[in-house]
Amino acid sequence: MDHYVYDFRNGGRELAGLLGGKGANLAEMVRLGLPVPPGFIVTTEACRTFLTTSEEPAGLAAEVSRHLTALETTAGRRLGQADDPLLVSVRSGARFSMPGMMETVLDIGLNDDSVLGLAEVSGSERFAWDSYRRLVQMYGSTVMGVGQALFDEAMTSLRKARDAPDDLHLDASDLARLVETYKRLIRDGTGRDFPQSPAEQLRQAILAVFRSWNAERARLYRRREHIPDDLGTAVTVQRMVFGNLGPDSGSGVAFTRDPATGRPGLYGDYLPNAQGEDVVSGARNAVPLAELERLDPRSYRRLRDHAQTLERHYRDLCDIEFTVERGTLWMLQTRVGKRTAEAAFAIAAELVDEGLIGADEGLARVSGDGLARLMFPRFDATAVGDPIAHGVPASPGAAVGAAVFDSAEAARRAAAGEKVVLVREETTPDDLPGMVAAQAVLTGRGGKTSHAAVVARGMGKVCVCGAQDITVDAEARRFTARDGTVVEEGTVISVEGSAGAVYLGAVPLVASATMRSLEGGEQDGSVVAAVRRALEHADAVRRLEVRANADTPQDAARARRFGAQGIGLCRTEHMFLGERRELVEDMILARTDAERDRALAALLPLQRKDFAGLLEVMDGLPVTIRLLDPPLHEFLPDRIALAVRVAVAEATGRPPDAHDVELLGAVNRMHEENPMLGLRGVRLGLVVPGLVAMQVRAIAEAVVERTRAGASPRAEIMVPLVGAVEELRLAREEVERVLAEVGAETGVPVRCPVGTMIELPRAALTAGRIAKEAEFFSFGTNDLTQTTWGFSRDDVEAAFFPAYLDKGVFPTSPFETLDPEGVGRLVRIAVEEGRAARPDLQTGVCGEHGGDPESIHFFHTAGLDYVSCSPFRVPVARLEAGRAAL
Ligand code: PEP
Ligand code: MG
Repeated sequence: MDHYVYDFRNGGRELAGLLGGKGANLAEMVRLGLPVPPGFIVTTEACRTFLTTSEEPAGLAAEVSRHLTALETTAGRRLGQADDPLLVSVRSGARFSMPGMMETVLDIGLNDDSVLGLAEVSGSERFAWDSYRRLVQMYGSTVMGVGQALFDEAMTSLRKARDAPDDLHLDASDLARLVETYKRLIRDGTGRDFPQSPAEQLRQAILAVFRSWNAERARLYRRREHIPDDLGTAVTVQRMVFGNLGPDSGSGVAFTRDPATGRPGLYGDYLPNAQGEDVVSGARNAVPLAELERLDPRSYRRLRDHAQTLERHYRDLCDIEFTVERGTLWMLQTRVGKRTAEAAFAIAAELVDEGLIGADEGLARVSGDGLARLMFPRFDATAVGDPIAHGVPASPGAAVGAAVFDSAEAARRAAAGEKVVLVREETTPDDLPGMVAAQAVLTGRGGKTSHAAVVARGMGKVCVCGAQDITVDAEARRFTARDGTVVEEGTVISVEGSAGAVYLGAVPLVASATMRSLEGGEQDGSVVAAVRRALEHADAVRRLEVRANADTPQDAARARRFGAQGIGLCRTEHMFLGERRELVEDMILARTDAERDRALAALLPLQRKDFAGLLEVMDGLPVTIRLLDPPLHEFLPDRIALAVRVAVAEATGRPPDAHDVELLGAVNRMHEENPMLGLRGVRLGLVVPGLVAMQVRAIAEAVVERTRAGASPRAEIMVPLVGAVEELRLAREEVERVLAEVGAETGVPVRCPVGTMIELPRAALTAGRIAKEAEFFSFGTNDLTQTTWGFSRDDVEAAFFPAYLDKGVFPTSPFETLDPEGVGRLVRIAVEEGRAARPDLQTGVCGEHGGDPESIHFFHTAGLDYVSCSPFRVPVARLEAGRAAL
C-alpha cells in the first residue's frame, strides 16, 4: 500500500484525519455504491511534510503517477491524450470543512492539442474551449500567482465587445481568443508559459493546493473557527465529469433537509449547463431543485434516493454536490452539512423522533452557542415598515448596521466600533475579513448555497443573499432598490435573515420566540419545542448545577425562570452604586469611629432589604452573598478632577472649597497605583472596622425575616480575594460572631455556610489549608486569570490581545475561555487539595467562564459542583453542562 496516496476504494470516513473530509466522504460514497467518478487522494501527511520541508515529499511523484496510470486504465484513455483526453480535477479537502478558503484546479490535462480532441469527442467546440479557458484561468491564478482580477477584466471586456450578457453568450472562437489572452497575461505576469505537459500541470496543481493551506484567508478562517493550523489539507484528484455539456447537463447543490429551518425533504439549487463552481460562486442565479425534477425526472429521483441513503448512513443532514453529465447523475461531494442554530435544534429533535439517533446524540448535535444565537432579539414586527428589498433568507437573525461595500471598509469601520452590513454583488473567499467584521451580509446574487450563505451560516451571521431587487454598484459605493431608494455607503439599514428582508434605517428589536419561551411565555413552534427538549435532556444528564450571578431581585427572578438553581455570586458592591455611593465614600474616608459607625448604620437597613429581596426570589435555593469587594478607586471621587477643582480655585485667587481640600487629602492618602492589587476583598474587611459585621448582620437579619415569614432562606457568605488561610480565619471569626449575635437577639438560629473565593494563585496553591476554614470554594476565574497571567483584566483585551490572537499566542482570550493549562491547573490543584482536606467541600465557579461553553466542559472534567453565570447564559450553561456529561 502506498504511503501518501489512497485510491477512493481504499478509504472511508474513519480516515478523515488523513484523507480530509472531502476525500474520506468520497470514499464512503464509493463504499455505499453511489455513482462517484473514480479518483485518488493525496494525504494530509504529504501536505504537512511539504509545508514543513518546503519540498515535494520523496516518493510522492511516483505514487501519484502509479495511481494516475490506474485511473487511465479504468478510463481507457490517458491524461491529456490528444484525441480523447482524460481530464481530472484537483481539489483541496481538509479534515474540517473550510468552504472556499483553499484552492481547486479543474480540467487538468487540457493543452493546445487535447482541446481539439475534446472538441471532437464531445461534439462541442464551445465546451472544449470553455473548459480550456477555465483551466488556464484557475491554473494561472492558483498555481502561477497571476491576479484573478486580470482574468476577470479580460472576460468582462470581451463580453462587452461581444455584447454578451453572460459567458454563455460567448462562442467557441471568442473563448479560443480568451485562452490566448489569458496565456499572454500569464507570460507577462510571470515570465513563464502556461505548461503544456499534463503531468506537470497535475504535479504543480497538487503542490499549489498544499500551499493554499497557508493562504491568508484560510488562516483567518481557521483562527475564527478554532481549527488547528498544523493539520494540512488532503488533495483529491478525480476524473472530471461535465455539467456544461449542454441542456441535458448541469450542476447543483442539495441538502437532505433545509439547512436554514431544518424542514425535512430534499432542498437545493440547480444550474443547467454549468460547472459546480458556477453554482457555489453565485455567478449565475440557480433555480430550485424542483426544476431538475421537471427537466430530468430520472436524475432527480436518483438524487433523492441517494440523498436518503446518505442521510440514513450518516444519520444527519448531509449536503451534496452533484453533476448531471448528459443525463447521468454523478455524486461529487458529500458531508454532514452546516446549518443554522434553528435547524440544528429542529433536526436533532426530528432525528430522535425518527429513531435514527438517541437523545444523547441529539443533545450532542446542538450547542450552547447556537442556543445563545436563538436567544438574540428579532425585529419588532409592529415597527417594521415595508422592506426596500427581498432576497433569499440564507441565515437567520436580525441585524442593524451601516451599509458598506467592500471587505476592507467593513473591517476598518468595525474596528472603530461601528456596526456594519457588508453589501456585495456576490462574495468570494477574499471577503472573509469583511464578513467577520459585519453584523450581516447582503448580496445581490446567489442562492442559499452561495459562498455568502454557506459562510455566514457557519459563522451564525445574519445573511440575505440573491436580493435581485437591488443593484449593487460597489465602485460608486451604493446600491439602488427597485423602488428607487438609493442607499449610499454609511446609510443604516436593517437586515432580517429569517424572512430575507431588508429595511431602510434601524428597526427596533424585540425578544425572540426562544427567549420568550425560556422566560416561561409561549411554547408553540417546533424550534421552541426542540430547544425545550434538548434542555430537558441536558438537565437529566448533567452533573454540574447551574447558578446565576445576580445582584437584584429582577435579575434573580429572570435567572430562576431560565432554570438557575440558586445564586452563585451576588456582588454586594453592585448594591452600593448610584445614590448609595456617598455612604460608602463616607465609610471609607471616615476619620473617627463615630463617623464610620454612622455611615455603616445608614447602610445596614438598605442591605437588609437587598438581601431579603434576593432570598425571597430564590426561596429554597442557595444564595451566595459575597462580602464587599470593590477596588477602592471605584468608590472614591476622581482624584484628578478634585485636584483640578482645587488648583483652579487657587489660581483664580478664591479660597478652595474646604470639603474639596479635605477630600483631596484623603483621596491622595488612599491612592493606589494598582487598585486591582490593592485594598480590596477580604483586605478591606480586615482593615475597615465594622464593615464585615454590618454586612453579615444585614444578611442574618434578612434570613431571620424570611424565616419568620415561613420561607426557607439559604444564604451563604463568601469572602473574596483571600490569599492566606489567616485572612479567612479572621474574617470567619467575625462572621460567626455576628451570626451568633443575631441568633441570640432574635431567638432564630442563623446557619449560613461560610466559604471563600479562590481567585489568587496563592489561594489555589494553599487550598488544602484554606479548606479547613471554608465550607465552599468558588473560583473567581476573572481575577485568577488576571493574577496568574499578570494581565490587567481592564486593559489588555483592547491593548494587545488582537496582536496576541493574531500571532497565535492563544486561540481565544483567556478571559473568555479558561486557559486549561495554567489557570485550569490551579483550579484542579485547589479542587483536589481542598477536597482532601474537607471531603464535603462544595466547589463552583463564578467568573465569566462559568457561562462559556468550552470552559464549562473543563469545569465538568475538573469535578466542580456548579457553574454560575449571568442570567442570560443560564440556559446555555444548562445545555453545555449536559453536553459535557455525555
Ligand atoms: C472573579 O474574579 O472571577 C469574580 C467573579 O469576581 P469579580 O469579577 O467581581 O472580581
Ligand atoms: Mg474577583
